[in-house]
Amino acid sequence: MNFDLNGKVALVTGGNGGIGLGMARGLAQAGAAIAIAARNRAKADAALDDLRAHGGKAAFIHLDVLDEASCRSAITKTVAEFGRLDVLINNSGTTVRKPPEALTAAEWRLVIETNLTGAFFCSQAAHPEMVRAGGGKIINIGSMMSLFGAPYAAPYAASKGGIVQMTRALATAWAKDNIQVNAVLPGWIDTDLTRGARAQVPGLHERVLARTPAGRWGNPDDFAGIAVFLAAAASDFVTGAAIPVDGGYSILV
Ligand code: NDP
Repeated sequence: MNFDLNGKVALVTGGNGGIGLGMARGLAQAGAAIAIAARNRAKADAALDDLRAHGGKAAFIHLDVLDEASCRSAITKTVAEFGRLDVLINNSGTTVRKPPEALTAAEWRLVIETNLTGAFFCSQAAHPEMVRAGGGKIINIGSMMSLFGAPYAAPYAASKGGIVQMTRALATAWAKDNIQVNAVLPGWIDTDLTRGARAQVPGLHERVLARTPAGRWGNPDDFAGIAVFLAAAASDFVTGAAIPVDGGYSILV
């Protein structure tokens, strides 16, 4: 059993806050060097201070997952900075909450391309670097919307369902390269993303509490353990899985 990440390098998309930063903190504590890849530099600076305060090596890489070239250059820059790439966490995500009949084409594309297409291009760019490193770990962030539907979430649910199927496809394609690809499905977690939903959707806070057996919202640090497990040799025989981290939300009838 090996949870040690010393000498490993991880790129976390959207790692400048929320769930991504919670995962990055876990990986840093287990010894990995972290590339925080996102658009917002000020948020990233605070994240870098946080990681370095815990003794981790960390750098900011500018990334816009809507731009294929930016996905490719984020991988190149990570390798230039730290010498290798072992772990990719595809965590960047967004949503537009509207009934399907009101969605514009631009809104549909924004959500699908941020959550799904960007994760594909980052994974594709990471593949040769992981082959060079002798193997790797890709962790994709799904959602309860990978399993369920909601009236205000057509593109989000489509993208997060797609993330699980893409995870399975990449896991089968790259097992030969010793690359394990898994998905994590968060329940309701207190972050900037859901603070927006709480403000927009009346009664959401109470419904989440009532529906979550653990009786609370998750927080970003709830994702440190699963990130370390899926990034480390301890999970070498786990691939193509979609693992809920949801306080039991997905198993309550
Ligand atoms: P945050 O809003 O805190 O994180 C989203 C991150 O995505 C931000 O850091 C943002 O960084 C980044 N991002 C958005 N657009 C782009 C882009 N075009 N290019 C690069 N990065 C981008 O929310 P969460 O931590 O909640 O979300 C993280 C992931 O977890 C998402 O995939 C979300 O769908 C998923 N999730 C969250 C749940 C929750 O309850 N909070 C539940 C289920 C899934 P920046 O703006 O600086 O680019």
